[in-house]
Amino acid sequence: MRDPIYCDYQATTPVDPKVLEAMLPYLRDRFGNASSISHRFGMEANAAVKSAREWVARLIGASAGEIVFTSGSTEGINLALKGLFAAERRASGPRNHFVTAPTEHPAVLDALEYLRGDGAEVTVLPVDSRGSIGLAQLRAAITDRTLAVALMAANNEIGTRHPLAEIGAICAEEGTLFFCDATQGVGKFDLDVERDGIDLLSFSGHKLYAPKGVGALFVKKRMPRLELAPLFHGGGHEHGYRSGTLNVPGIVALGKACEIAFAEVDDEAQRLAAMRDRLRLTIQRELEDVVVNGHETFRLPGNLSLAFRYCEADSLLADLDGIALSAGSACHSGNAQVSHVLRGIGLEPELAHGTIRFGLGRFTTDQDVAEIASRVIASVKRLREMSPLYELARAKRAREGGAPRQAP
Ligand code: PLP
Repeated sequence: MRDPIYCDYQATTPVDPKVLEAMLPYLRDRFGNASSISHRFGMEANAAVKSAREWVARLIGASAGEIVFTSGSTEGINLALKGLFAAERRASGPRNHFVTAPTEHPAVLDALEYLRGDGAEVTVLPVDSRGSIGLAQLRAAITDRTLAVALMAANNEIGTRHPLAEIGAICAEEGTLFFCDATQGVGKFDLDVERDGIDLLSFSGHKLYAPKGVGALFVKKRMPRLELAPLFHGGGHEHGYRSGTLNVPGIVALGKACEIAFAEVDDEAQRLAAMRDRLRLTIQRELEDVVVNGHETFRLPGNLSLAFRYCEADSLLADLDGIALSAGSACHSGNAQVSHVLRGIGLEPELAHGTIRFGLGRFTTDQDVAEIASRVIASVKRLREMSPLYELARAKRAREGGAPRQAP
């Protein structure tokens, strides 16, 4: 029997063999503490962290001193948002307002909700049916009390990208900070904190072919220093922003993953976008009533979110045994409610319940795409044949002249 096909790269990625090879020595004989540099073990670890920091910085157009290693994006997001708020409070500053969008990840929305309980004000901008914000509305929402705008690079469910450079320019002009959750963006498309006017940016290793449990937060160096109150107090590691002994093997892995992405991001994005488009076209050629969620073109290369009318996503996933896919976002799986992202873009409930996320990545092959497409087409046809709603729609269309094309 063939191994299952992995098609859930927005949930997590496998570790690239080259990344594993780079990190393994730091789990074996190079086990030193990067802060204990009075001997060879510590010096080796310290040098490896230094090199990794340079690669992480290089991938996003930052300098090494602007990188804070974390356990992952959730931590980086919490450090950025709660850290900004707490530092402003301590300095008795006037700013307590954040601007965000309803389609952001729960790590952002829930952190802001928590801060709301502590006196923060949060403006949630509307998004259109593709998940895009309006730039004029963004500008209008910023006030002289706005501490930061929190908008993601690309959506984990529907793939829609935000225009980072335009957002960064508005934030700079209006005198506020731009925090970007780039968990789905780093290494997936060209992203440059300098060009895009980003002040803080968070991402996770495990979306980038490094292991789980490591990530980075970019904190722009500016004068005066951008103040973030730490979440953890202790040894003052990471410029005092994040105390705790460094996860050297994870950091080495993240550095290697960034080095690979730096060399391959453009080619990989092109290859994935071509596969994604082929998958969509093949499915839509055979099936009617399939809607693409998210922006048509300004989207994550390896993401395709499709809503199949007259078909429950859960039944479809069960029927597609052997293909690892997800209904909506993995972060919400097990929750029968419509995901907040699909609600945020105003997708009608019937389509939301029929939505599947296809996540393609580095190790997806053309053969995988062909097999996924043909299995999905066959399953949707079979399930629709059992759907009374589909039966009604077919009868209605037949009366009006033109039955749904599928189901011979
Ligand atoms: N932000 C986005 C857009 C994500 O997709 C995720 C994870 O799915 C996160 C934040 C949280 O990342 P982690 O679970 O690695 O901390």
